[in-house]
Amino acid sequence: MNYPLLLEPLDLGFTTIKNRSIMGSMHTGLEEMDGGFERMAAYFAERAANNIGMIITGGIAPNEESSSGGAMMSGEEEAVKHRLVTDAVHEADPDVKICMQILHPGPMAYSKNAVAPSAVKSRISPFVPNELDAAGIQKQIDDHVRCAVMAQKAGYDGVEIIGSAGYLISTFLVQKTNLREDEYGGSYENRMRFALEIVEQTRAAVGDDFILIFRIAAMDMLEGGMSWEEIATLGKALEKAGVTIISTHFTWHESAVPTIATMVPRAAFTSVTGRLRKEVGVPVITSNRINMPDVAEEVLARGDADLVSMARPLLADSAFMRKAVEGREDEINTCIACNQACLDHTFSGKLTTCLVNPRACHETILNYEPAEDIKRIAVVGAGPAGLAYATVAAERGHKVTLFEASSEIGGQFNLAKTIPGKEEFYETLRYYKRMIEVHGIDLRLDTKADAAMLKAEGFDQVIVSTGIKPRTPEIEGIDHSTVVSYIDVITGKKPVGQKVAIIGAGGIGFDVAELISHSGPSGAMDRDVFAAEWGVDFENHPRGGVTGVEPKVAKSDRDITLLQRKDTRVGKGLGKTTGWTHRLTLTRRGVGMMNGVEYVKIDDDGLHILQNDLPELIEADTIIICAGQDPLRDLYDELSAQGVKAELIGGAFEAMELDAKAAINQASYMAAAA
Ligand code: NAP
Ligand code: SF4
Repeated sequence: MNYPLLLEPLDLGFTTIKNRSIMGSMHTGLEEMDGGFERMAAYFAERAANNIGMIITGGIAPNEESSSGGAMMSGEEEAVKHRLVTDAVHEADPDVKICMQILHPGPMAYSKNAVAPSAVKSRISPFVPNELDAAGIQKQIDDHVRCAVMAQKAGYDGVEIIGSAGYLISTFLVQKTNLREDEYGGSYENRMRFALEIVEQTRAAVGDDFILIFRIAAMDMLEGGMSWEEIATLGKALEKAGVTIISTHFTWHESAVPTIATMVPRAAFTSVTGRLRKEVGVPVITSNRINMPDVAEEVLARGDADLVSMARPLLADSAFMRKAVEGREDEINTCIACNQACLDHTFSGKLTTCLVNPRACHETILNYEPAEDIKRIAVVGAGPAGLAYATVAAERGHKVTLFEASSEIGGQFNLAKTIPGKEEFYETLRYYKRMIEVHGIDLRLDTKADAAMLKAEGFDQVIVSTGIKPRTPEIEGIDHSTVVSYIDVITGKKPVGQKVAIIGAGGIGFDVAELISHSGPSGAMDRDVFAAEWGVDFENHPRGGVTGVEPKVAKSDRDITLLQRKDTRVGKGLGKTTGWTHRLTLTRRGVGMMNGVEYVKIDDDGLHILQNDLPELIEADTIIICAGQDPLRDLYDELSAQGVKAELIGGAFEAMELDAKAAINQASYMAAAA
């Protein structure tokens, strides 16, 4: 057995979890959608059929004041709908457990009816919550209990009560959000009372043979947050109150430390769980940036946890655990922690899916069925779109030849992987390399396919995924020797001087600024570097892990200015959940950002601009163009001229909004229909 600890069952006394893997909670949007329960059933059942130990659903609100119109479990009518999900999971594998997460957002409910221990507004919510009175507190406790009872009726094996993240229960625990002077505020004993009464009363209502998980913020990343003593005390008290398992979380949503983004090192926080594990007698769950089975195994081997929660990695690959058991870990489609199609979607009100796996949450819609009519398909260009198309088509049984002009697959992924903090892209490349082998794709590297060659081979179908060419803006002096393209900078073909202007502040402008302002090891690969850069003290665990710890970010020795024409805040178009980390990092390094500019000309002095109609000179010895892309369609045009039918995908189809998410999504749907 490759992963003896990960695959070891966990005996809870009244029941057994078949192995140590948990699909962690993640709101998908299916919860509220028409027909969403059928889709949720298929989504979870696929993971259950593939050897996950336990599943925890997305958060379900216990009452109106917590639901803001979203999914709620307050009565039998709602419980009946969940039967579809629990039955599907237990039919897929009767040994797999499924628990429903009870989530009361408290002050983070998007509603003027939001409630909290005190009228303290969350930094990231527009609403000041209403302070609960004594009757209101009892009602919230009763509603949690009723929600758990309904979950039990719905066939769940347990519930997870979330007491972290800045949601209701956590705001009782933390001093600065609990200003009460009654028995639920003041001393820590009083501040714990709400959490403990919920657990005690829930346990009494659901009986002994029901899994009761409580999720705590073991390091909340808040200035003035919870101290280590408070966390350990809470853990022990929860155990006494009747929890089966304690799950650890490492943030509040309003915290200014990234805890799941791709620049966070793998398993960065598990030692904190390990410390808590020594304090309590119940099993503990750890999480965050555990995205491959060997990482999970190492966490368990270090004694950091009893169970490992992986939410996004199970979106990225529903067969993650099956592949681990069967020794096929090199076939795992690894979560790269980009958040682009999961959390960025969730927080924009869009349905969750996955950049590397568009089937996630679309299991009833997008399926790769065996092809009825096997075709010989040429795919030209092995970037994200070409790779996705080729592998899906080949998986379905088509005979695929994949042409790539360069000596390696990956296209734009090869640029992304070299940016510090984006090292996870290596995993995506490893996955596709392996898929090319598994599905017997005829890969022809160093081969620039042309119309004559494609015609001569007589393919049934030709897919053109030739990607993009960087856009050259029309600015006087654009041919000046100081002007370079982002590709030449990222690949190291052109040197970069000390005074740099970057034209274009999209994803690539930010990537380039990150690359040229960075020095030393990547924080994503070194936890000490990450901790220093973000001001986290793992060893001493001051309040919240961060109180009084100054982030140490080395100023760039280059003078860098990132520019855009739009009036909007620079970086506004970046990912909703990660954009702030990039802006903050670059600001700390001293990178200048300018919006609302007009480019006038480039000369020996640098870049001349107008801002608010006033002329300004950005002195620069290097001007890097990151002004987006145009489609590269030379081959397509050549094929069209010769009467060869071809289809465009990815950047060659549409360079605007070109990104790997759109490219892989489009290619996968097209290949599923080929
Ligand atoms: P982009 O996001 O479209 O940004 C292009 C930038 O160039 C914009 O800031 C635009 O701003 C500017 N621009 C456009 N036309 C211009 C012109 N004619 N002259 C001067 N400036 C011009 O493109 P990208 O940065 O190349 O990124 C490509 C894709 O990759 C995007 O979809 C992006 O989301 C994705 N990507 C994502 C990430 C990520 O971390 N999520 C990282 C890298 C790439 P103004 O028009 O305001 O000047
Ligand atoms: Fe992971 Fe990105 Fe997929 Fe989210 S979208 S599950 S972060 S790979």
